Amino acid sequence: MLKDSDSEIYSAMQKELHRQKYSLELIPSENYVSTEVMEAMGSWLTNKYSEGYPGKRYYGGNEFIDIIETIAIERAKKLFKAEHANVQPYSGSPANQAIYAALVPIGEKVMGMDLAHGGHLTHGSPVNFSGKWYKMITYGVDKETELIDYDLMLKKAREEKPKMIIVGATAYPRKYDFRRIKEICDEVSAYAFADIAHIAGLCVTEIHENPVPYFDVVSTTTHKTLRGPRGAIIMCKTQYAQAIDKAVFPGLQGGPHDHTTAAIAVALKEASLPSFKEYTKQIVKNAQTLAQVLMDYGFRLVSGGTDNHLLLLDLQNKNITGKEAQVLLDSVSITTNMNTIPYDLRKPFNPSGLRLGTPALTSRGMKESEMKEIAGFIHKAIENRNDEEIKRKIKEEVETLCQNFMIY
Ligand SMILES: *Cc1c(COP(=O)(O)O)cnc(C)c1O
Repeated sequence: MLKDSDSEIYSAMQKELHRQKYSLELIPSENYVSTEVMEAMGSWLTNKYSEGYPGKRYYGGNEFIDIIETIAIERAKKLFKAEHANVQPYSGSPANQAIYAALVPIGEKVMGMDLAHGGHLTHGSPVNFSGKWYKMITYGVDKETELIDYDLMLKKAREEKPKMIIVGATAYPRKYDFRRIKEICDEVSAYAFADIAHIAGLCVTEIHENPVPYFDVVSTTTHKTLRGPRGAIIMCKTQYAQAIDKAVFPGLQGGPHDHTTAAIAVALKEASLPSFKEYTKQIVKNAQTLAQVLMDYGFRLVSGGTDNHLLLLDLQNKNITGKEAQVLLDSVSITTNMNTIPYDLRKPFNPSGLRLGTPALTSRGMKESEMKEIAGFIHKAIENRNDEEIKRKIKEEVETLCQNFMIY
């Protein structure tokens, strides 16, 4: 037993479990997987090497791994209505890298959402492979509405003629107009690439539109609203299937993580059940309740609210920075993350915004009334940030709430 053989790791793992149980997890990219997903993940499948794809492996002994990967692929195709699916990318960033590698020669132009407006590192940040290896053109949100400026996207696309346009973000609280984006891509003959890492769970339950059937290529992580293990899936039209598969293996990766593949398959089955739709509906109801009550307390929300699982607070009128708020809320066992807001005057390591999301708390069974309570905790902690006694009381109340919605 690990407990006996490696007490250092065991003890840190136990502390992390306690933290997950007794704090309110409001980071929108996190979730609690089922014990069944963990059972597949923490299994003997980690022992196997299976470079290649089902039926075409470079190692012997893969007859059972082939069954597992084929099931994962078929479940992904069915759930997302995809022509082709690759379940091998190690995570979201490598999946995106594979898509670039498959479709766009190095040095060509690609258009993505500005990181400062909610885009992901892999959508063109200068510190990422995308920004280093490609000529990146950015689009962003309108300063007034804080919604994606599709007119500007079209104008820039016409001027710059990028080979690929990426849509998807880490901190955009609104729906995407996927149809409009596809039209823009078609007009300038760019590949249409949707990165639905955050909203995949909402897309498969039709709470948000699913771009998979008509976009050229779509990537998603499997561990955010989809509530699976850490991993990723690339889906594409049949015509790009071979290029995508080759880019993943042998282009970028060696052996797939078969334990992750099995856990992805388990999560995809869970996501196809009617209860998952109830779950994702509740995620959005919870986010909208949290948003409304925070606005009632005088918080300003970027874009004035949310259509999805996350909200972005602009803390400027509260005289606290994103980093200070994150540290303060950590001290009362509420886990959030600082984030830039569009047109932020502050720097990313201490921005003006705070990002909150409801997927993890909704997995614990929390509903609107708990969201109201949590908005109250956040408000009270920020208003009384220097009052140790009040903070101690909030932390106690947070722990009591967690106790009533236990995980694992
Ligand atoms: C989370 C995320 C990724 C990257 O996922 P990792 O698994 O952290 O590499 C890519 N794109 C978007 C939009 C994301 O939100």
